[in-house]
Amino acid sequence: MDRIETTGGKWEVVIGLEVHAQIISNSKLFSSASTKFGIAPNENVSFVDAALPGVLPVMNSFCVDQAIKTGLGLNGNINLVSLFDRKNYFYPDLPQGYQISQYKHPLVSGGYIDIEKADGSVRKINLERIHMEQDAGKSIHDQSATKSFIDLNRAGVALMEIVTKPDMRSAEEASIFLRKLRSILRYLGTCDGNMEEGSMRADLNVSLHLPGTELGTRAEIKNVNSIKFLAAAVVFETARQTEILESGGIVEQETRLFDSATGETRSMRSKEDAQDYRYFPEPDLPPLVLDPARIEAIRRTIPELPDAKTTRLQRDYDLPSYDAAVIASEMEIANFYEEALQCTGSGDKDVAKMLSNWLLGDLFSLLNKHGESIGNSFVSPKDFAELIMLIKTDVISGKIAKDVLEIMWKERKRSSDIVEERGWRQITCPNEIESVVQKVLEEHGDKVTEYRNGKEKLFGFFVGLAMQRTQGKANPQLLNEVLRKLLTEGV
Ligand code: ADP
Ligand code: MG
Repeated sequence: MDRIETTGGKWEVVIGLEVHAQIISNSKLFSSASTKFGIAPNENVSFVDAALPGVLPVMNSFCVDQAIKTGLGLNGNINLVSLFDRKNYFYPDLPQGYQISQYKHPLVSGGYIDIEKADGSVRKINLERIHMEQDAGKSIHDQSATKSFIDLNRAGVALMEIVTKPDMRSAEEASIFLRKLRSILRYLGTCDGNMEEGSMRADLNVSLHLPGTELGTRAEIKNVNSIKFLAAAVVFETARQTEILESGGIVEQETRLFDSATGETRSMRSKEDAQDYRYFPEPDLPPLVLDPARIEAIRRTIPELPDAKTTRLQRDYDLPSYDAAVIASEMEIANFYEEALQCTGSGDKDVAKMLSNWLLGDLFSLLNKHGESIGNSFVSPKDFAELIMLIKTDVISGKIAKDVLEIMWKERKRSSDIVEERGWRQITCPNEIESVVQKVLEEHGDKVTEYRNGKEKLFGFFVGLAMQRTQGKANPQLLNEVLRKLLTEGV
């Protein structure tokens, strides 16, 4: 990915993200209306959300707790006093005519996320701040040729705006950052990170400069709603700005849109400055003053986060860092893994690795095929563990286990029952295997001679036939041993 966007090595890409993350809460930031997604338009609209005259905002303290938790989880400093401001602008889906947001004095200052790149190197991406604000409603323009519709269900829903420093240098870094941020928010339970539903969206700031010189003018690409689009928008912007700069032009500071159909960004408006919004302190809300004890109490509710979990999985189970990181990337995967591992009742490092291989390989591809997440797996951790132990104890081969897993999914049965029902127990009796192999060799005397004259790749041919004879049930290792013995010693 890095390579696509380098521009002959001359220009360095600089990226900063402003991520809007919807806070998980039952009600909105300043009203008691529900935040439920996917209901009929304008069902969740209180007088406050509709901005009727004389109504007053009331702070939802759970939303504040959620934002504090996020700040702590992202290594930020929680400010004991933060303020709300009015950011004035007109938009049909913003009935107040202003957004209540935190401007000069945000709830959280600083923070960082470490990201690990494909080559294994780790980069620290610093955060500028996290502030709280209200979301706007939605204007719907595509349902009628002559009318636009307004849905205020989202108006007033609590958002966190997570603003990074301009610390990212490639589409790869931006994608990894966003994925990691989403993973941490999900662990914290403060945002569901559902980009398709718009509960997490990113404004992407991109500029180019010559390394060692000051930063260039940025373009801001609004509301990018998938990680794939984020990478594509970086690549497109890099090419666009390179072309401008190399032909002696200057990059305009502007707000642009990413068009996912064409993979291009296009200009939306020239970028507004802070003074255009006429920020002033929100008169209807007092300063948000926090008791340090409240922050400490929230700190104690923070679960083990992905980095710590990755380290522990590596340390406790000897997993390679790749396996550990993928397992730790989502709490549901990690929980499944650890529960299954416990169900195996084995402290063996081999079992831990086997379980990881089967989870990240076969079970994941099954989940993918059926479009399910691990939380909806028809194969439970306990049943999965049983399957792994059947392989480990040589009751079935890995090859048969793949079929067993498919049937477990389809028929919702336990692996041991499937194996018994179908008579799939592995043949581990050397005599039984020997007699099968012997028959195969007798029937193919010509091939045996060829093998003995040096055509060694015939070995696989014999294995295949013997396997076929046993319906794939011969223990592969034993079969290999017996075959080698009979071929060298003579039948
Ligand atoms: P605004 O809120 O007006 O968009 P900020 O100064 O708060 O402006 O910056 C917003 C985002 O832009 C931050 O994520 C920051 O890292 C990023 N940013 C600032 N300058 C640059 C730059 N020259 N190139 C790329 N990103 C930048
Ligand atoms: Mg911005």
